[in-house]
Amino acid sequence: MIYPWQTGDWQRLQQLRVHWPHALLLHGQSGIGKFAFAQHLAQGLLCETPAANGEPCGTCPACHWFSQGNHPDYRVVVPEILAGFVAPSGDGKSDAPAASDDNDDDGKKSRAPSKEIRIKQTLALVDFCALGSHRGGLRVVVLYPAETLNVEASNALLKTLEEPQPGIVFLLVASRIDQLLPTIVSRCRQWPMSLPTPDEARSWMSAQDVDDSAALLAEAGGAPLRALALAHDETRPLRDFTLQQLATGANCDAFACGENLQKLPVPVVLGWLQRWLYDLLAQHMARRPRYFPGAAKALARCAQSADPAALARYTKTVTLQRVVENHPLNARLVFEELFIAYRGIFTA
Ligand SMILES: [Zn+2]
Repeated sequence: MIYPWQTGDWQRLQQLRVHWPHALLLHGQSGIGKFAFAQHLAQGLLCETPAANGEPCGTCPACHWFSQGNHPDYRVVVPEILAGFVAPSGDGKSDAPAASDDNDDDGKKSRAPSKEIRIKQTLALVDFCALGSHRGGLRVVVLYPAETLNVEASNALLKTLEEPQPGIVFLLVASRIDQLLPTIVSRCRQWPMSLPTPDEARSWMSAQDVDDSAALLAEAGGAPLRALALAHDETRPLRDFTLQQLATGANCDAFACGENLQKLPVPVVLGWLQRWLYDLLAQHMARRPRYFPGAAKALARCAQSADPAALARYTKTVTLQRVVENHPLNARLVFEELFIAYRGIFTA
C-alpha cells in the first residue's frame, strides 16, 4: 500500500525500472510514509507477475512470502529498537518481527535496545549479497532509517555499495540526509519524496477517526503519519500540561515540570519546547503560529512580555541541549533548569 500523495513518486520511479539504480536513497520529512513506500517498492521489485504500473500482484509466491515476512531475497535492516514494531511488508501492521538476523543475542539482554544500525547488521548484508538469488530475480535490501547507520556500519555498507553486484537493489530511507556519510549519499541515486499537499494531508487525516485532526496536523508540521501518531501518543496529557505551563510565561512552575516530566525521554520534552519557541518567535514577528495554532492567544500574550534577545538566547540553549539529549542525563534536573531559564525570557 502506498499513500495517496505518493502515487506521483511511484509512477516516476517506475520509469527507472529499465535501468534500476543499484542504490536508491528515498528521503524527505519524517512522518510522510517513506518506509511504507520503500517496502511496497521492494514488493513490487520482487513480485513475479507485477502489473504494468509496477504494482505487486499480491498473489504470486513472492508476494505471499513478502507479506509473511520471509521472502528469501529480501532483507529489512532497522535498529534493534524498531525490530518488532516494523512489519516487513507494506500492509501497515506492526505485529511481525522484522530483520530477524539483526538481533544481538550474545547475552546482553539487559542492555537497552540499540538505536543504531550496527556493523553486525551491515556485515550480514555482505553475506546476503554474496548468495545467489533464491528465485532467480532481484534481491532487495531496505535500510531504515539510514541516518541511524553508525560509522562502522556505514563503512561496511560502503564497501558493498562501491562494488555493486548485479541483481541487488538497495533502498535507503532517510529523514535527515545531512546525517548520512557523504560517501554513502554519493553512491546512491537520491530521490526526494513528495510531501502531501495541505489538502491531501487534511483529507487523509479526516478519514482516520481522530479528534481535532487539523490541530494534530499543524503540530506535526503537515506530516500525516506523525499527526496520527500524536493522536495515539500516551504522553499527550503531559504534553498538554507542558503547554499549559509554558503558556503561563514567567509563572511557569519549573519544579512541577521537573516532577511531572521526569519519566519522559529528554528529546520528547525538548521537541515540545522547541516547537513552542518557534511559535513564540513567529508570534513575535506577527506571523501565525505553525505548530500550536490552538494556543495562539497564549502565545500572543507570552510574546508580548518576552524579551526578544533573551528569547533568542534561550532558543539557542534549547537547541544546544538537543546535541546531548541522548546522553544519560538526570531528566528531572535537565527539565528544572530548562523551565527555570524559560521564566527568564519574560520581562513582566
Ligand atoms: Zn506478486
